[in-house]
Amino acid sequence: MRIVVVGGVAAGMSAASRAKRFDPGAEVVVFERGEYISYGACGLPYVLGGAVDDWDDLVARTPEQMRGRGIGVRLRHEVTGLDAQARTVTVSGPSGVCTEPYDRLLIATGVSAIRPDWARTDAAGVHVLREIPDGQAIARSLEGARRVCIVGTGYIGLELAENLCRQGLSVVMLERGDEVGGNIVDVEYRRRIRAELEAHGVDVRCGVTVEGLTVREGRVSGVQTDTGLVRADTVIVAVGVRPNVELLKAAGARLGKTGAAAVNVRQETSVPGIYAAGDNCETVHRVTRRKVHIPLGLTANRMGRVAGVNMAGGDATFPGVVGTGIFKVFGLGVARTGLGQADAERLGLDAVSVDVESTDHASYYAGAAPIHVRLTGERGSGRLLGGQLICSNPQSVKRVDVLAAHLHGRGKVEDLFQMDLAYAPPFSGVWDVLLVAADRLQRALR
Ligand code: FAD
Repeated sequence: MRIVVVGGVAAGMSAASRAKRFDPGAEVVVFERGEYISYGACGLPYVLGGAVDDWDDLVARTPEQMRGRGIGVRLRHEVTGLDAQARTVTVSGPSGVCTEPYDRLLIATGVSAIRPDWARTDAAGVHVLREIPDGQAIARSLEGARRVCIVGTGYIGLELAENLCRQGLSVVMLERGDEVGGNIVDVEYRRRIRAELEAHGVDVRCGVTVEGLTVREGRVSGVQTDTGLVRADTVIVAVGVRPNVELLKAAGARLGKTGAAAVNVRQETSVPGIYAAGDNCETVHRVTRRKVHIPLGLTANRMGRVAGVNMAGGDATFPGVVGTGIFKVFGLGVARTGLGQADAERLGLDAVSVDVESTDHASYYAGAAPIHVRLTGERGSGRLLGGQLICSNPQSVKRVDVLAAHLHGRGKVEDLFQMDLAYAPPFSGVWDVLLVAADRLQRALR
């Protein structure tokens, strides 16, 4: 049994490790076109901001460690072709091009950052942030830089804004929509995120469309927008991602409506012997039962595990996601799971939301911070649809996990209210803010 994995980060390396553990006799080979495997891309903004010392700190397992486990790792090897009939891939590496056979193949090629036409330039100082070398290039570009323009205000743009400000840089953010944060959370919470950015000196401009870049002596000098020129010596483009599905397309594998790979719960594509896992795949949203493309770290790792077990002859399934996400912007923690009111309305659900403001722990205990919770439920069924939290004590929004667990079980709001949640003054009020919100929502749903 020869298992070939294309892409050596979260999904690819989880799959390789699982497959080898499940069937120690299998030959497992990973082809990675980059210089690194098995690293936490999620930490990239924090190396730029100084909270993480070094790029190498993001690496969980080195190629040598993986080889020690009997997994073949070939860095700087790009898979450029796939023949599903012959069960071979074409690989281009430092010593030339070769053909490699497989019995089972995993495509774990992730996503690429979108570069609009205006960002396709040879000028220095224009970047995206996806992989470690992107981060290293930004770090080099920032030496001597003063004014950075971040185009896009999704979670990567927001995390970058904080981290670049921490380096003493002047930061401008440009957003085409009328508020920051895309559709991460409902608009009321996005306004709070914008206020937090502005309180820390970020120049946020919404409703602005980028038209081009200005370049002086080979380096970007500004961003031309429909409302005027924004001066900047470094521009970071964070306007979204697209799944890397070229190999799958070439093999005739089915793609979903989201544009990502269509896979079943075993991570199998429509082509026999070929699996896909990670950011390049769509999956089922357990609240809506619709197919979604939500490329995040845990999902990629989990899909990789499932694919690894199945490729090695086991039987594992990926149950889907509920759309849980969390991030920090300066002193603000923001978390979400399931559907917000706006999401639910877009889907035509009869949804009701309640907002509760409280403190994250007993108000008489030192350090209590305001916390805002929005819970959304469905009239008729009474089930919880989702929740959003925002708090100036960032750790406190991790209680979103209670809501995510409840969504996984398709739980009702009244059952959330009955939960025995932990209480002591340093951690919560006796009625945790989630219970207060659930009580209010169950009454609103009656
Ligand atoms: P990737 O990590 O993209 O790995 C795919 C690999 O495939 C790449 O190394 C690529 O070089 C390789 N490859 C592609 N094509 C080929 C080919 N033809 N041949 C050989 N190799 C190929 N997620 C969270 O859940 N929380 C966070 O806080 C968070 N923060 C993030 C911050 C940043 C700045 C970024 C960029 C991502 C963040 N993510 C976060 C997302 C998370 O990192 C991804 O979900 C995860 O890395 C996906 O893993 P993957 O293996 O599917 O894809």
